[in-house]
Amino acid sequence: MKRFVPDAVWIERDALGSGVAQTVRRRFPGPIECFDAGQPLPPASLQDGKRTLVLRRHRGAFLRHCPAGTAGLVCCNYLVVNLASNCPMDCSYCFLQDYLADTPTLTAYTNVDAALGEVDAILRAHPDRRFRIGTGELSDSLALDPLTELSQQLVPFFAARRNALLELKTKTNCIDTLLALDPGGQVVVSWSVNAAAVVESDESGTATLPERPAAARRVQSGGYRVGFHFDPLVEFDGWEAGYAAAVEAIAAAVDPAGIAWISLGSLRLSPGLLQAVRRRPRPSRALAGELVMGADGKARVWRGLRLRMYRFMVARLRAALGAVPVYLCMEPPGVWERVMDEVPSDRALGLRLAAGATW
Ligand code: SF4
Repeated sequence: MKRFVPDAVWIERDALGSGVAQTVRRRFPGPIECFDAGQPLPPASLQDGKRTLVLRRHRGAFLRHCPAGTAGLVCCNYLVVNLASNCPMDCSYCFLQDYLADTPTLTAYTNVDAALGEVDAILRAHPDRRFRIGTGELSDSLALDPLTELSQQLVPFFAARRNALLELKTKTNCIDTLLALDPGGQVVVSWSVNAAAVVESDESGTATLPERPAAARRVQSGGYRVGFHFDPLVEFDGWEAGYAAAVEAIAAAVDPAGIAWISLGSLRLSPGLLQAVRRRPRPSRALAGELVMGADGKARVWRGLRLRMYRFMVARLRAALGAVPVYLCMEPPGVWERVMDEVPSDRALGLRLAAGATW
């Protein structure tokens, strides 16, 4: 894939001395502007917002519970730490189109020490709990890494802590910085994967399907555990063959013993996201299947098709990879029961995934 290079970088004056700002200034050859805290930046659409990188301090808390922990859904007790906002890639179904509609500027936060201080405080307060913490909620975990080299701070931080596991979730192959670091068994690098047809039609700017397992193999050989997220599963003509091929590509590339987890999920579309996806210049494959409105006001692929796709995927994953931990993301107990023959408690699921990741 082509590495992301912004058109320009804007740095908040207070953040000029930060490690992130200094690294970006060293690595980015293009125009750099300064702005004062509170000064409004030029208005941007979500698409323009992806072309300019803003570096500034984050005001407010960094750490929060994953929003999947909604009542009525089985939750895996996952925490997210948001070190960036928006993403340089452009997936047709991305929830950021709605979630960041009012704040679309691609931003990397510079007060990383404050974020890690928050993480440290919660780990020290609960030394007997095991935490899984990810950075890939409001952005891709690695897309900006060639510019910010943030992984040089994150990986040693988590490698030195025994009760927390970091997940770096990505659709890129920006792993070069990781390969020079020792994860100490505390870092999982995971890839969102899809059938090649969906990657080509709906995941603009991302690594190709073959590039993702190839990158996973390289980080595995560098001592990292890996994960995969088939999310969203999309129905299209030939979806069975498309997803079977993606599973085979993973099985051919990585050692199943080094897979921490694999998740399966399907689209949930708020009214705002549904409108945003429909407004895109090219129709999205993700909207091709039948959608029904849920009690939470979000449109979803109808349940019968979700069950069929999940059962197909679980059978393929078991056949190709054996007993790797597989879980469903943001699904209710009734779907878990019909697909997985069990409904784990949130706590049990969190513990099982943590155990699969080998502490
Ligand atoms: S890679 Fe992830 S965060 Fe980036 S546009 Fe695609 S879905 Fe959104």
